[in-house]
Amino acid sequence: MKVLDPYSLVLMASMMCGVMSAVLFLVRRSFPADIHGLGHWGAALAVQVLSTACYSFKGTLPDGFVLPVANLLFVLGNGLCAMGLQAFYGRPQGWRMLGGALGFALVGMVYWLFVVPSYTARVTWMALPLSLINGTQLWLVLRHGRRHFATYFLAMLIGVNAVLVAVRGAMALLVPAPTVDLTQPGTLQGIYLVITAMVPILLSVGFIMVATKRLQFTLERRSASDPLTGALNRRGFDAAYARELARLRRRPRALALLAIDLDHFKAVNDVHGHGVGDKVLVRTASLVGAALRESDYLARFGGEEFVVLLPDTDMQLAATVAHRIQAALRTACDTGIPVCTASIGIAAQTDPRQELDDLLDAADRALYRAKANGRDRIELAVEEGSLRRASA
Ligand code: GH3
Ligand code: MG
Ligand code: MG
Repeated sequence: MKVLDPYSLVLMASMMCGVMSAVLFLVRRSFPADIHGLGHWGAALAVQVLSTACYSFKGTLPDGFVLPVANLLFVLGNGLCAMGLQAFYGRPQGWRMLGGALGFALVGMVYWLFVVPSYTARVTWMALPLSLINGTQLWLVLRHGRRHFATYFLAMLIGVNAVLVAVRGAMALLVPAPTVDLTQPGTLQGIYLVITAMVPILLSVGFIMVATKRLQFTLERRSASDPLTGALNRRGFDAAYARELARLRRRPRALALLAIDLDHFKAVNDVHGHGVGDKVLVRTASLVGAALRESDYLARFGGEEFVVLLPDTDMQLAATVAHRIQAALRTACDTGIPVCTASIGIAAQTDPRQELDDLLDAADRALYRAKANGRDRIELAVEEGSLRRASA
């Protein structure tokens, strides 16, 4: 391990950590505010750099100052990564865990430095709070991470780091002191230093990958949904319909569509104001959504018109769903938001060659009849001519 002079290596890794910290702070500004944790990781790497800088004063400044400060900064850096993951996955911030780990590290440092000086005891002692932090990180990623490559990559790196820390802690107990002393030359020390120096940088690459994947999901969801109600927009609905149509073409099954239009909604805006009108729209989306199954799709096509796609649902079942929606809207009772009923037209896909526009037209015609026949009612689209009334 002569080529890998430990000091140059640590210096190089530390410089890369500094660059990575700046990168994290910079990319954070391009991420939406609801993706948290990048700032924590940026700060964590800056703290790691400080920790290494502090170590570099070993020999110049007294060990009694350098070692506790550098070690506490190292634990703080690791803890900030764990807190970044907590923020990222929307979990409560573990200040107590971080405080506990720092306190534990400080007590051990002071005891094994000043009371009973022992290098190996310090190494083993420090492995404990670091293992707690690594374990927390691993649990967070495996428990809350979406199942994709970036998550597995990050989990793998955290796992490697955890094993490394634990093995070093155990080795300090079992093998002669010089083997674990990183200031001594040796193959094991060299390997350990190479991996340890690279881990924070690789970990932050893993975290950026996970955050970028989250960004992709967020943008996809946003481009497919209506910002006011959270329902799908036309683009999202078209994609959902295309998926269902492909399923239907593979195997014939029922598919129904509801066209929902709020009754006299303009009057709600005129009497109560646009803001209250918006609240009625949000509540409508929420009540309609609650009346549906997970496999159904709700979309808002602008204004006060909603469309629902019901896979594996025939006309009769769709009428039952429509009744459920109307009943929920009639009995809605949020304070300060007026009740607004809805008229509903229902159409069913009978032929896989039909297009979405055909289905929408049929449901719209039924909706028009529901309006013409007095509103707050349901009408079914029928083949040519004869009107079938579903309800009054
Ligand atoms: P009908 O029973 O015949 O459907 O009557 P209506 O008043 O509901 O129908 P109309 O199409 O005349 O009115 C729709 C209103 O919806 C007009 C428009 O001001 C309002 N609107 C459209 N988009 C929004 C929105 O995003 N927020 C609010 N608050 N109002 C909206
Ligand atoms: Mg209307
Ligand atoms: Mg309308």
